[in-house]
Amino acid sequence: MRNEFDVPLYTRGVNPTVAMVRKKLAALEHAEDALLFSSGSAAIAAGVMSFVKAGDHIVCVKKPYSWTTKLLSELLVRFNVSTTYVDGTNAENFRRAITPETRLFILESPNSITFELQDLQAVAAIAKEHGILTLCDNSYNSPLFQNPIDLGIDLVAHSGTKYLNGHSDVVCGVLAGSKEHIRQVMSKEFMTLGAAPSPHDAWLLMRGLRTLELRVHRSADSAERVANFLEAHPKILQVNWPFLKSFPQEPLARKQMKRCAGLMSIRLKAADMAGVERFCNGLKRFLLAVSWGGYESLQFPTAAVIGPDMPKGELPWDLVRIYVGLEDPEPLIADLEQALALV
Ligand SMILES: *Cc1c(COP(=O)(O)O)cnc(C)c1O
Repeated sequence: MRNEFDVPLYTRGVNPTVAMVRKKLAALEHAEDALLFSSGSAAIAAGVMSFVKAGDHIVCVKKPYSWTTKLLSELLVRFNVSTTYVDGTNAENFRRAITPETRLFILESPNSITFELQDLQAVAAIAKEHGILTLCDNSYNSPLFQNPIDLGIDLVAHSGTKYLNGHSDVVCGVLAGSKEHIRQVMSKEFMTLGAAPSPHDAWLLMRGLRTLELRVHRSADSAERVANFLEAHPKILQVNWPFLKSFPQEPLARKQMKRCAGLMSIRLKAADMAGVERFCNGLKRFLLAVSWGGYESLQFPTAAVIGPDMPKGELPWDLVRIYVGLEDPEPLIADLEQALALV
């Protein structure tokens, strides 16, 4: 039966430009179908809300994207959906957290601040044993470096704002999965909550997708050089980048990810916050900003957000997230070198 979920009737539902992008996104994630939302947060919220009801329980990896935490701990609790956060570096922690009410596992591998991974295949297998659905935020890797559906995950979410669009000029999100799951989300949460993308944003995203492969490999190539440089530097305590030999889950990273993307974090050997500040202010080629995945290299220090929302101690105060963009890597490394001298 042809209806407004299959043919263009009204642009909140099916739009021809959006429909073209949805096909490309589904193909990229090896999924049967995909939805495009007006933000990554909307994609995650719709994907989660569609599969839980009052009384249900969710197991989520700890420290997911901040608005995923708010969705679970502030919004869904009001509707009597509870969440247990687990250390995802051991897949068995997901099994141990299961209750008779558990409906959904939420994963993010790696997370985008400290980069802990989950063994997607192992967690998906535990979920299947118990009839539990799995949703994985795959923004970090982009579909080119990791395909959770191939590892048994049911639903994949992206902030399309990051690598997928790649030009820092669109906020959008993706949810990919089976025809049946995507149909359910579309006919309920997608249509009622209405976080639909504009056709113009979908067109811009299509422009971005055409260079996705070139961009993510450039970012990954440069990130590898930057990570190696930083790791060898005497002012650096630690580099969190999953493909480094020193990263505790490096073997798992190499098993389930094709490459490692351009986002990493470092801990500085700084005596105090002022040392971190001198480093951050000293950087000339890394803009101080949230987000990532575009042309420009960026820096985001924990120190900038320590305050009422982020109690001291949750993340190390000497941590700085670095996004390695598409510029020539030589000047980026030189810039880091001169700023590290200021620590
Ligand atoms: C940015 C981001 C999101 C949210 O995406 P928006 O498009 O900003 O709503 C979700 N997950 C991760 C890992 C992100 O980096």
